[in-house]
Amino acid sequence: MEYLIIIVGAGIIGGLIAYRAKHPHVDENRKCLVCGYSGPMKTWMGNYGLPQFAALFLLICFIIPGLLFIGWAWGKHVCPQCNALAKNIPAVEGFEVGWR
Ligand SMILES: [Zn+2]
Repeated sequence: MEYLIIIVGAGIIGGLIAYRAKHPHVDENRKCLVCGYSGPMKTWMGNYGLPQFAALFLLICFIIPGLLFIGWAWGKHVCPQCNALAKNIPAVEGFEVGWR
């Protein structure tokens, strides 16, 4: 039973990576709240090896924390300039968000 969950978990992550590779999405324009960077940002889970490895490791060892980690990390963006995680907001072209 446990192995089934691991296989399903590995399948989800593998499928995600394969999906990203097949469908290179246009990077979202976002604004960093830490350093002020404004421009395209990549998602953490889909583009960085560390969270993918951590999610797989947690799934294999603990399963539930692994699923929680994936849920938490899903859809978070990383600033390419200062590497701040999830400290950013969508930047709309020609519209400056008065956040700072
Ligand atoms: Zn930044």
